Amino acid sequence: MTSNNILVLPGDNIGPEITSEAVKVINQVKQSFNLDVNVAYGVIGGEAIDNFGHPCPIETINLAKSSKAILLGAVGGPKWDSLELVSRPEQGLLKIRKELDFYANLRPACIFDDLSNSSSLKSEILEGLDLLIVRELVSGIYFGEPRGIFTNDAGDREGFNTYRYSEPEIRRIAKIAFKLSMQRNKKLCSVDKSNVLEVTRLWREILIDESENFPEVALTHMYVDNAAMQLISNPRQFDVIVTGNMFGDILSDISAMLTGSIGMLPSASLNSDNRGLYEPCHGSAPDIAGKGIANPLATILSVAMLFRHSLALEDAAKVIELSVKEVLSEGYRTVDIFTNSIEEKCLSTIEMGDMVIKKIKELVH
Ligand code: NAD
Repeated sequence: MTSNNILVLPGDNIGPEITSEAVKVINQVKQSFNLDVNVAYGVIGGEAIDNFGHPCPIETINLAKSSKAILLGAVGGPKWDSLELVSRPEQGLLKIRKELDFYANLRPACIFDDLSNSSSLKSEILEGLDLLIVRELVSGIYFGEPRGIFTNDAGDREGFNTYRYSEPEIRRIAKIAFKLSMQRNKKLCSVDKSNVLEVTRLWREILIDESENFPEVALTHMYVDNAAMQLISNPRQFDVIVTGNMFGDILSDISAMLTGSIGMLPSASLNSDNRGLYEPCHGSAPDIAGKGIANPLATILSVAMLFRHSLALEDAAKVIELSVKEVLSEGYRTVDIFTNSIEEKCLSTIEMGDMVIKKIKELVH
């Protein structure tokens, strides 16, 4: 494995449009910092179903295993909606996450000062928001067995799922959350429902136990219903939140809305070797595909996370983030974050990518 191999999986609908801007950014950073980085391409999702009969072919898994990091656009769309659940494009994502054991999903929610008016919440509640949600991604109720729908003795149909976590699964996500807290403001809030669910009582016990290895981190606990409320009423109280798969799914979408646009939110999913899958939090946006108006910034910010977490190139990550910040403060917007103010200029997907590259060139010369 070349240490800095990046596999790009563009996926469906706006996926290829946004990843091609992100690859332009990778190439610019490679040139500006004189880095040994190689980019290869693979298929996933609907495109893979159409061409290879499977949403995540074995060739893609093999390429992923020989890469340090994977950059993914988005998968899915109406074309594949009539397929059985088990053969839909989204299964490709679940497969690659599970095969490479990408158990730690990191979703930052930061407010760019210039976009604080884009959120439906008051800007004074949000100013300076810098929150990281760490979600367990490959276990919990979404994967627990047994599961299914059956007809009971009374002749009524019943659906059931199993919410389970083993101690090692909890401990490894706890460790990564504590480590990330150490790099930030040393405040970790663990979200559970330990007043009702035994599985999350175990979660809380292990978090408390693991905190002994990180005495500098202030660990608190919150029930998930309260956490949902607190994210809306006082989101700046949080630094890092750690939680299980289903609660993390819901809370990270709430935090997405704090920042105003889903087109701005990056994510990383890491395994224990720091290899990672990097992708925007949004989907494949079939309603705007091919129009050249998709916001590429979430994918470009995912590239910054890729340089930080999988390639350990913090300077490169910071330059990308700073470039995005400056482009926004100069008033450049894609249509999803455009408020029609006279200080703003609305750009296409490609123009926004070019603007970020121009800024990187200005910052690193
Ligand atoms: P979506 O995130 O694709 O779109 C929701 C809304 O946000 C749409 O109006 C869309 O135009 C807008 N939007 C999304 N990304 C944008 C961007 N970069 N720039 C500007 N506007 C953007 O969610 P959806 O409509 O519920 O799902 C569409 C498809 O994507 C479905 O097939 C779904 O299964 C799939 N999906 C994939 C992923 C993934 O690949 N990780 C995640 C979520 C949904």
